[in-house]
Amino acid sequence: MVERIHGKDEVTGSIPVVGSREITNRKDKMAKKGPRKIITLECKECKERNYTTKKNDRNTTDKLELNKYCKRDKKHTVHKEIK
Ligand SMILES: [Zn+2]
Repeated sequence: MVERIHGKDEVTGSIPVVGSREITNRKDKMAKKGPRKIITLECKECKERNYTTKKNDRNTTDKLELNKYCKRDKKHTVHKEIK
């Protein structure tokens, strides 16, 4: 143990510290990047609210429309974002 600390750890020990700093910096930037809103997707045919999802308001300004399975209709229908 003592021998290893004296020899290798000075060199190998410094690398992970630098690496982890870079990773945490990236995570901080990711988390702060744009407002992520939770939105609800409503079936266009029966108006059932089947899904919730998240979107970035800055990147996706249009209303979302996704083809999703509706339990009530028992088929895939267009689900539109509602507020
Ligand atoms: Zn439906």
